[in-house]
Amino acid sequence: MGRTKKVGPAGGLKARYGATVRKRYIEAIRDLKSPHRCPHCNANAVKRQSVGIWKCRKCEFTFTGGAYSPSTKLGATARRAARGPSET
Ligand SMILES: [Zn+2]
Repeated sequence: MGRTKKVGPAGGLKARYGATVRKRYIEAIRDLKSPHRCPHCNANAVKRQSVGIWKCRKCEFTFTGGAYSPSTKLGATARRAARGPSET
């Protein structure tokens, strides 16, 4: 009694959104927390700055992408509009 059940990163969602949504949320968070490949210097050092904003720790290249992953079809379009400081 009184013990909190461990449900992984989706624990904050409790049982509100159902199993399918929770599963998708876990996948999104897992993807979000893992480093991504930089489209500029190709280093696996891209971290999420904010929702849709990604930054490479190696070359400081900042770009926009998906909310949970830098590589989406939408992100490819946005990348053209938002150029990093090293891309002149
Ligand atoms: Zn980079």
